[in-house]
Order: sequence, then C-alpha cells, then structure tokens
Amino acid sequence: MKSRLTDDPITAELAPEERRPDVALRPRSFATYVGQQNVVGNIKVFVGAARARSEPLCHMLLSGPPGLGKTTLAYLAANAMGVNLVTTSGPAIERKGDLAGILTGLSEGDVLFIDEIHRLNTVVEENLYPAMEDYRFDIVVGDGPSARTVKLPLPPFTLIGATTRTGLLTGPLRSRFGWEARLSYYSTAELTDVVAQSARQLGVAIVPEGTWEIARRSRGTPRIANRLLRRVRDFAEYEGARAITLELAAKALDQLEIDGAGFGAMDRWYLRLLCDTFKGGPVGVETLAAALSEQRDTIEYVYEPYLIQQGFIARTARGRIALEPAFTHLGLPVGDRGQGSLL
Ligand code: ADP
Repeated sequence: MKSRLTDDPITAELAPEERRPDVALRPRSFATYVGQQNVVGNIKVFVGAARARSEPLCHMLLSGPPGLGKTTLAYLAANAMGVNLVTTSGPAIERKGDLAGILTGLSEGDVLFIDEIHRLNTVVEENLYPAMEDYRFDIVVGDGPSARTVKLPLPPFTLIGATTRTGLLTGPLRSRFGWEARLSYYSTAELTDVVAQSARQLGVAIVPEGTWEIARRSRGTPRIANRLLRRVRDFAEYEGARAITLELAAKALDQLEIDGAGFGAMDRWYLRLLCDTFKGGPVGVETLAAALSEQRDTIEYVYEPYLIQQGFIARTARGRIALEPAFTHLGLPVGDRGQGSLL
C-alpha cells in the first residue's frame, strides 16, 4: 500500500540506496533488540525449549503497526535456532503453486516469514493449514472422477506471520499459531537507545540531547528513528558539523516538517481536518479517508493507532473525535467537543 505522500516517513518505501543500511542497522542478536521485553523473553523461552527437544520452533503470529520490529524478531528467532529465514508476503503468494514452491524449498527447521499475512488469498490460506499442522501439502492429480489427492510431505518448519490487522485473520488460520504477540510503540527512552545504537553503527557523532530529540520525534517507531537519524546526519554533513547536537537535530527535523510531537505532514493534515474542518468530530473514517485521499486501511492501521495512543483522538461508536491535545497542538481553541465529553 503506497502512501500518496511519497516522502512521508511513515509509509514511504525505502529508497534503493537505503535498503542496505536498513538491513545493516537491524539488530543481530536479542541483546541489541531494544524494548518489547515480554515478547523477546517469550521467544527466547520457545527457542530454548525447541532446541532442547530438537524440534522446530512453534508457529508465531506477530502483530502491530509497521516498523516496530516484527521482521527483525523473525530474523533473530531463526538466527537463535541456527536455521535459515525465508521471507515473503501475503500478496506475493498468488497461487497454490507459489506456496508449494516456497514450502518444498525449505530445509528442516527453517523459518518462513510471511509479512501481511492477512492478505493471503483463500485458496493459498487453505493450503497452508495442512502444511502448518501436519507438514503436508495436498496436491490434486488428474481431472474429474479419476482425480486423486497426493499428500506431499514437507520438512518440519516454522511459520512466523506478521500483520498490522489481527482482526482480519480468519479463525482457522489464527488458531494454527502456537503463540500470538502484539508489539507496542516504543517509549522515547527506548528509541533513544535505538538511535544511539544506530549512530554507533553508522559512525555518526551525536550528543545525548541530539539522540533524545530524534527519539522523541520518531512516532514510537524504530524504523522512523533510523530514518530520521540518517536524514539528520545529512544535515550535519552538509553543514560540516562535527556532531549532531540538540540544536542541529531540532533544526533539521523542523526542516523535514516533523514537529515536536513527532507528527509528519499527514498526521497534521488529519488533525486539522478533524479539529478544524469537522469541528472536532465525530467523523466517520470513510469520510476522513476520502478527504485525505488515502486508503481507509492506512488511516486506520498506520496513522490512527499512534494518534490514539498519544491521546490526540479517540474512536467512538459515532466516529472519530479530536481530544484536547489535538486542538492545543494545532493552536486552535478547544471546542466543546475537544473535551472528550463524548467518550
Ligand atoms: P516491521 O517488520 O515491524 O515492519 P522491522 O523489523 O522491519 O519492522 O524493523 C524496521 C527497522 O527498525 C529494522 O531494520 C531495525 O533497524 C529497526 N528496529 C526494529 N525494531 C528494533 C528494536 N527493537 N531495536 C533496535 N532496532 C529495531
């Protein structure tokens, strides 16, 4: 799903030259994976137990907004198991044959990571059930009355599914995962660790206040923190600065239109629409999506979760409403509806 604002830091695709650094900055061990202690703690237990029993790791479902570290966790789990990781995504597996090709290409114990698993089509999904449950792939040979099903054995493997929308997964698929975890937004303190770690890896000099300034404007998301660090580094190099200071980080981020709350142009446009045009709501998400020329899904599962978590908006049965911090942030008078009185 592409954002209409192509350089929006939240949804923009990584530029080709940045893909490598993004992978380069990916934590290589659980020790350098910041935060999400509970999730990491559980995965370590499952890895330890599976290794002790010489079994593949259990199938796991990871959910949460983009950039919070789902793919990274799959890499770390595969690494800790000493197996390969094969990555694909729901929309990329179009036909049953595509799935067969991927599954039969796995080696024993390998981890198959399917991003956006909620976007698998029904046929592919149904063929995944026996694969997950019995390590078996059913192939129909022949036509008509002479058709018969051949059960192809598969190497035991682990499926790690990632989704921004657990609610869209069908019951049968969801029930086949041995464990489900939801990743949450990172605190500024945690993102400070992410930025400091990445700065060391990139060989960028940065003072603690500069690290913190980038962290607090990163929308609770490590991917955004790394992206902003690289952009601020560009400013530092352009200006010939020897280190990223608080002033330099703040100036660069202002220039990049990332405000003090970490909101980008799209967040502000959303808030202005809700607070100003619609007088604080309630407004239906469809109306907002149409007004913003953005897909409803992206609004609901990428932009809104952070605005809700930060207490700027709320979802009610009658639609979205703006809360007091939203009006204050935009410098608008707090209307009757900005008090959260409809909650
Ligand atoms: P997702 O799969 O949830 O979209 P990724 O796992 O691709 O997110 O994470 C994006 C990038 O953010 C990674 O390449 C890594 O550099 C960084 N990152 C994510 N989670 C963490 C973390 N917990 N600690 C440090 N860096 C992280």
